[in-house]
This record gives sequence, structure tokens and C-alpha cells, in this order.
Amino acid sequence: MQSCAIWECCIPMVRKRPSAKLRQQVMQRARGLCEYCYSQQRYCPDRFVCDHIFPVSFGGETTIANLAFACVGCNSKKGNERQALDSLTGEWVPLYHPRKHIWSDHFRWSDDFLRLIGVSPVGRATIHKLDLNRANVVNLRRLLITFKEHPPAPIVE
Ligand SMILES: [Zn+2]
Repeated sequence: MQSCAIWECCIPMVRKRPSAKLRQQVMQRARGLCEYCYSQQRYCPDRFVCDHIFPVSFGGETTIANLAFACVGCNSKKGNERQALDSLTGEWVPLYHPRKHIWSDHFRWSDDFLRLIGVSPVGRATIHKLDLNRANVVNLRRLLITFKEHPPAPIVE
């Protein structure tokens, strides 16, 4: 961690953008999938980003352990949030943490593979907060099913 050159007093500067090498590692670990909605970067027009799972604004670091590969939609919906309301229990619960949680403990596909279904408070709250079944993502899943490109195999580390 380096200090700000102008305000030497100072608040330590945290590198927010991962290096190209780190980004590549994050992308490869996720096999090019958004670690939240499971969209595939190769079929999306926008370049995916490295999401700080624990937000920078709360002290989250730009390390491989705190980064998740994410589509722009999921990254934008998540923002600086770390938790959300579970619609079933009304309780605040942590959002899905791709490094700490196992995807299949919290999500499953609907029988037609178009929608994600939360099978835990974390899964339900994350689906709602990140809007993981938004119309454009569901449309993409529908299209990819016809080409046998969906659903992708789970990300396993
Ligand atoms: Zn996504």
C-alpha cells in the first residue's frame, strides 16, 4: 500500500483497479462467467469487471481473495452493498460471497434453466438485490439454451 504523494499526512491510497495479470487470474478462475448471474462474458457485449466482494469503501482490498468476476449489470446492482433483505424471513443477511460460499448451497436453476432460485436466505437476498433474473439476462439464457450453451457448469475452485 502506498501513501498519497500530495497529501503526505495521509489516507493510504488503496489500488482499486486490479492489474491486467490479476484481472486475467480472476477471469480464468471464473471461467469467464459472472460469478453472480452466471452470464458468460463471451456472449455479452460489455466487458466484465472485477467486483470487490468486500467493497473498497469499507476497506476491501484489491486482492484475488476479494475479487469476483462480474458482469456490468450485477456489479452495478451490487454497488457498495454487503448485505440485503431476505424476502422470506425479512432479515438482513450477507450477500453471496463467491470466495466463502458454495454456489449450489444458495442457488439452483428453475426447471427450464431460465431463472435462478434462492435456496437459502443468502441466495434469495442476492437474487433480489442484484436482480439476477433481470429480463435481458433471462433472454440471453433462453437464447443460449437453444445452442446448448446454458446452463454452464458450476464454478469450482
Ligand atoms: Zn452477472
